[in-house]
Amino acid sequence: MTLGDKQRAFTRMIADLIQFAYNSGFELTFGDAFRDSRVHGAMGKKKSYSASSSNHKIRLAVDFNLFVNGEYITKGDHPAYIQLGEYWESLGGSWGGRFKGGDANHFSLEHNGRK
Ligand SMILES: [Zn+2]
Repeated sequence: MTLGDKQRAFTRMIADLIQFAYNSGFELTFGDAFRDSRVHGAMGKKKSYSASSSNHKIRLAVDFNLFVNGEYITKGDHPAYIQLGEYWESLGGSWGGRFKGGDANHFSLEHNGRK
C-alpha cells in the first residue's frame, strides 16, 4: 500500500469517524489536520510546536475537538473519547488516547511505525 493509498483510505475513515461521532450524539470541530512543511518543517525536521516526525505532516492524522451536549471535553479519559477511540481502532486506526501521556483528540493511521 503506497502512502497515497493510505492517505485516501485515511480520509474515508475520517468520514466514518465523523458520522459515528454525530450518530452517537457528539459534535466535533477540527483541530490540526495537515501540517504544511513550509510552516512545520519537513518530515523529521523540527520547526514549530509539531513533533518533528508527526503523521500530520504526511496527511495521516487529524485532531478533533469533542463536544458533548455543547460542552467542550478536555479530559482524554471521558467516556465519549473512549467510545470514539475504540471505534477508530475498530476501523484500523491508531488513537492518541493510547499514547504515553495521552493525546485523545489525535486520530491517525500508522505509517512506517509512526502513529
Ligand atoms: Zn495530532
